[in-house]
Amino acid sequence: MTHAAQHLAPKHRESRFRVRCPHCNSFARARSSKQLTPIYREVRFECTNDACGHVWLAGLETLRTLCPSEQPNPEIDIPLTVAVPTTSAEPAAPAAAAG
Ligand SMILES: [Zn+2]
Repeated sequence: MTHAAQHLAPKHRESRFRVRCPHCNSFARARSSKQLTPIYREVRFECTNDACGHVWLAGLETLRTLCPSEQPNPEIDIPLTVAVPTTSAEPAAPAAAAG
């Protein structure tokens, strides 16, 4: 086993997350992606394991805002992350209360 990648100085240590093949657990390579909506992107992955050869589509969806934008787009509605709820399943209101 060689370490051919070692001579590549990790200058650009991107925080690129790694995706693994759901079948063989090898690393996958993102081949292309398509922005379908402002908060949803489809990414085409290919397994790096030649013996596997799995190719699949994955969805990357914006779920929640952790830090609000300073330049918010009024057409974009992304729920803010809320603190861990301290109360879980309390009855919200008596059944008789209407409105
Ligand atoms: Zn695979």
